[in-house]
Amino acid sequence: MKQKGIILFSIAFFLFNFNTQAQVKNVIFLIGDGMGLNHVHAARVSADTMLNIERADAVGLINTYSANKYITDSAAGGTALASGVKTKNGMIGMNPDSVAVYSILHDAQKNKLATGIVVTSSVTHATPASFVAHQINRKMEDEIAEDIVNSSLDVFIGGGSKFFMQRKDSANLITKLTEKGYGMYFSLEEAAQSSTEKKGVLLAENGMPSIQNGRGNMLPEATKLALNILSKNKKGFFLMVEGSQIDWAAHDNNLEGVIQETLDFDKAVGIAMDFADKNKGTLVIITADHETGGMQITGKSRKTKELKAVFTTTDHSPVPVPLYAYGTGADKFSAFMNNTDIKPLLFKLYKFK
Ligand code: MG
Ligand code: ZN
Repeated sequence: MKQKGIILFSIAFFLFNFNTQAQVKNVIFLIGDGMGLNHVHAARVSADTMLNIERADAVGLINTYSANKYITDSAAGGTALASGVKTKNGMIGMNPDSVAVYSILHDAQKNKLATGIVVTSSVTHATPASFVAHQINRKMEDEIAEDIVNSSLDVFIGGGSKFFMQRKDSANLITKLTEKGYGMYFSLEEAAQSSTEKKGVLLAENGMPSIQNGRGNMLPEATKLALNILSKNKKGFFLMVEGSQIDWAAHDNNLEGVIQETLDFDKAVGIAMDFADKNKGTLVIITADHETGGMQITGKSRKTKELKAVFTTTDHSPVPVPLYAYGTGADKFSAFMNNTDIKPLLFKLYKFK
């Protein structure tokens, strides 16, 4: 009798274990553009409280070099993260021979999952473009906007309205999107109140203002809205969220800007992690496309508690960037990886074929 009980218990335990290792259904992929370890630590020290990023279940490191440069840009960096292919700096969703490569977002769509993009740059900027567009040069934002029109995204939120409305070819892509069934909005409130299934939200002509210039809670609120929309798909979703301007502040060697932008990004991370807590099968990945500024914290004033840091460049640096993972499948990311390793791992965890 006792043995029978043990066997039954073992079977039940096995089944339970099998269930808890269920496949990943939702992925929230958060990219802090230019966010190295010093950027994260600067935010941590000035917040004087734990960051959401620190809730991570697993931590890894990724190498960021591109196909033709030791130091990548955001186009090649984004393409590597999205599609698992190293390409030349400046290229979007293409391999070095200018052949289109396809992102994990594209695979999610092929598998009938919902997809979305939330950024604080223009939605046509290098990082988001890497997930949905295929262009020879990141500067072709008019062409990237057309790729977005044809991308079948369920939701996209960010800046960049001029690439849809004030174009060289004077086409009005807002009309095209409306014809394709999108509700097009120019404020988050408007978008949140509407019931259209697909939503495009363009909140600035080009990039959004920086936090220091009054962007407010746009990124965390847009992340919430996107999750509301995408989670309606019972099969699951892929959402890319970018803290686009950590990079811009670091290019300006603006320490306070780096801190503010990273703290704002961390709020979006918190929303993603809270969603994962409530929704089984959700994986949250937080990483960067490269480090910007060659930033190094050098100390902290005992008197004013002010952080001191130096920037060794106004450009990107080649140092590996941290990766944080949370939720279902997070343990797979506790490794020293290449930026091209993420996409195949996500593909496997989703159990796509
Ligand atoms: Mg970017
Ligand atoms: Zn940059």
